[in-house]
Amino acid sequence: MISEQDVIKQVPKKLFIDGQWTTSTSNTTFEVQDPATGKSLCEVADGNDQDALLALDACERAQKSWSKYPPRQRGEILRHGYEQIIERSDYLATLMTLEMGKPFQESKAEIVYAAEFFRWFSEEAVRIDGRFAVAPNGNGRLLTMRQPVGPSLLITPWNFPLAMATRKMGPAIAAGCTMVVKPASLTPLCTLAVTQILQEVGLPEGVLNVITTSSSSKTTKVLFDDPRLRKMSFTGSTEVGRTLMSAASKNVLKISMELGGNAPFLVFEDADLDAAVEGAVIAKMRNIGQACTAANRFHVASSIAKEFSEKLAQRLETMKVGGGLEDGVEVGPLINQDAIDKTKSLVEDAIGKGGQVLTGAKQLDRGGYFYQPTVISNVARDAKVLQEEIFAPVAPIVSFDSEQQAIEMANDTPFGLVAYVFTKDLERSFRVAEELQVGMLGLNQGMVSNPAAPFGGVKLSGIGREGGYEGIDEYLETKYIAMKI
Ligand code: NAP
Repeated sequence: MISEQDVIKQVPKKLFIDGQWTTSTSNTTFEVQDPATGKSLCEVADGNDQDALLALDACERAQKSWSKYPPRQRGEILRHGYEQIIERSDYLATLMTLEMGKPFQESKAEIVYAAEFFRWFSEEAVRIDGRFAVAPNGNGRLLTMRQPVGPSLLITPWNFPLAMATRKMGPAIAAGCTMVVKPASLTPLCTLAVTQILQEVGLPEGVLNVITTSSSSKTTKVLFDDPRLRKMSFTGSTEVGRTLMSAASKNVLKISMELGGNAPFLVFEDADLDAAVEGAVIAKMRNIGQACTAANRFHVASSIAKEFSEKLAQRLETMKVGGGLEDGVEVGPLINQDAIDKTKSLVEDAIGKGGQVLTGAKQLDRGGYFYQPTVISNVARDAKVLQEEIFAPVAPIVSFDSEQQAIEMANDTPFGLVAYVFTKDLERSFRVAEELQVGMLGLNQGMVSNPAAPFGGVKLSGIGREGGYEGIDEYLETKYIAMKI
């Protein structure tokens, strides 16, 4: 396996503008830390508004020829990108674990997931089609075509450092859009690494530009103010998403918003209990609980709530917590001290309101930001842990007495990203699926993410879909031609 030092040495640490790696115009840098130790990994270029405008200039220059590039060739670039990501998965996974903290095996899984977006959209690039119809009155023909929306700003979060980037870059490239990518300041390295791969497999200059920055608001404002920008795709918190929607309104950008969640995990009395516990482990513990799709609250039928809670607690107790590159570790660190402070405060609030701790509820006594996997049962309906996105390995459990009550509790949130339902009753599956106010549902399984499926939410969880057939639509405009025949 490639050493940590070599991994950090290998990754580019500059801005990528118009096909060139460059320092920022202010020649400054900012630090990237390892959350397992709290220590510095390296410095990367600290881009600013001037750099962002240079990136948009590059997009504008490249947009016309890129939109005319043969779709098959755009697809081939993505296909080669996919192959190279897989080929370099040990390097990329080590880099991901170093900057974000997740256990190495989970990083490997994210590398494959991330690469699959390139493979999926390499196949979609050649399927951008239009429509032809006879006008209803018979006089004339209606022709529609779909064209790239144009220069796009792609803003990604820290929790899936590679997949959130490829989920946007893939369809943008397939559709023929140029782009400025702004990765999270906590985890910019995977985006820089995949940019190098795309450069090597022949992505033309100016199509992809990457601005790492410690001043995201000021750096992106100039782009929102510039009418050449036509699209913004954002993944991150609902709070920041709202601000950016408002910024995007200035030039009426086409927007895609993948925002926060508060996923309910429903276990009915007829569920296979062991399968539900295993599903709960995946839905809760993937990414150390730091996923928008993480099960945020467990609603369990009262007849089985005690057994489910005890089994889940036993299972989480056995999970090894530690640095993501250590052998056998299943639970890595949280991203930073703020995450630890927030987790402590949510757990204290739940305990203060009568919740019973079955396991965990402590920060680990070592460097970095480690929190024990935690199960709290009998959580009060007004506990904050049920209302806010936890983003930590904490499982609060509440019981319900009827299907209707379970649905009401599940929908009692302004968010609507995903829900998980465990039941063996087919009719109930459909009834509940139709009633839940979410964009995605995991039926008897604890994970929904799949590049071939439309990912996204309703209510405060967002607008638009990424992946699936729908994903490329976010980067295309429809043009209609009225033909007199
Ligand atoms: P965040 O604080 O909202 O940041 C997301 C991105 O926005 C980062 O690149 C950040 O840059 C940037 N940003 C923040 N403020 C900005 C501003 N005023 N102008 C321009 N850019 C700005 O979210 P996060 O903490 O990174 O990620 C966690 C959140 O993402 C959670 O709520 C999670 O549910 C959500 N998420 C949603 C999905 C989904 O598909 N629905 C997937 C993953 C995560 P800096 O790093 O410089 O702050």
